[in-house]
Amino acid sequence: MYPKLIWNLPRIKTNCQIMVQECTTRNLDLVGVVKLGAGQEKIVSTLIESGIKTIANSRILNLQQFVHFPVRKMLLRLPMLSEVTMVVNNADCVLVSELATIKALNQAAQIINKKFEIILMIETGDIREGLWDEALIFQTVKAVLSLSHIKLTGLGTNFACFGATVPTVKKLNQLANLKQQLEQHFNIMLTIISCGNSSHITIWDNPQLDRAINQIRSGTALLIGLGLNDEPIPFLQQDNLWLEAEIIELQTKPSASIGARGLDAFGRVKEFDDVGNRVKAIIALGRQDCPFEELTPFEKGITILGQSSDHTILDVADYQEQLAVGGIIKFKTTYLANLMLGTSCYVQKEFLE
Ligand SMILES: *Cc1c(COP(=O)(O)O)cnc(C)c1O
Repeated sequence: MYPKLIWNLPRIKTNCQIMVQECTTRNLDLVGVVKLGAGQEKIVSTLIESGIKTIANSRILNLQQFVHFPVRKMLLRLPMLSEVTMVVNNADCVLVSELATIKALNQAAQIINKKFEIILMIETGDIREGLWDEALIFQTVKAVLSLSHIKLTGLGTNFACFGATVPTVKKLNQLANLKQQLEQHFNIMLTIISCGNSSHITIWDNPQLDRAINQIRSGTALLIGLGLNDEPIPFLQQDNLWLEAEIIELQTKPSASIGARGLDAFGRVKEFDDVGNRVKAIIALGRQDCPFEELTPFEKGITILGQSSDHTILDVADYQEQLAVGGIIKFKTTYLANLMLGTSCYVQKEFLE
């Protein structure tokens, strides 16, 4: 069945083994993020076989599928109040920034008599999750320390997501400094400073970086070999997966629509360059599976013209090889494409072992 997303597990395994090694030499605990794999068990077990000890995902439903895997599980997205019971039951550790949520986690953890680990997220400029106000950070830590079933293990931050900020030594060292202040003020030990994401690789060798930075949460590097700004990481492998879709119509047809025009399937105005008749293929893949802007055909001479919900239209007039209905077209995929295709139940997943 198509469309099909094909993962090359040996290449991912190689990436994981290299990353485990690179992190060990830098005294970094590697948290393996499997958002891109959408919780596919084959991918999770590949990470575990490669020596990764903590698996992380942003969705608790995915961590719930991993209960039988003998590894630590970290929830990346701030928990919803409505899911705290599921969180304490299916994760060992979570990133948090709201005292109300931490209190709710404490109550849920108390019911199952578990001491639940949290990492307090600190805002360092990416303007997504994390506490910003210093007084509020101290107040929150004070309140957290009074909770019976919560263990505050450290501080965390994130870069290069919403705000597109790059990680810097200055910001991370400020975080290390904050950790030290909190430890002294409250007479506690915070054992983890958790950094993310794969963009951290750009500065992990800077000699000025505080040694207290000791955890990296990374997924994109492990699974597709990319880091900051989606640039390939030189010591890792890329092209670890691709998409295949099936041709359902192959005909020579006009390049512009014929007759009076309204709006398209998505309420948009359409313009066409009328270049006469072209050989065009329709593949069984639609915008609900993945926006075409996130796909690049492998073969020269194939261009994507556009999409509706369930169809993608290709111009194949310049393609040199023979095509036929039932034939397969291969595409390279971006991060967003992988995310969407990975979570679509209409897209088959295949794993090369
Ligand atoms: C997704 C995510 C990561 C991992 O990011 P990659 O770019 O895939 O390495 C790390 N931390 C948090 C909080 C995330 O949501």
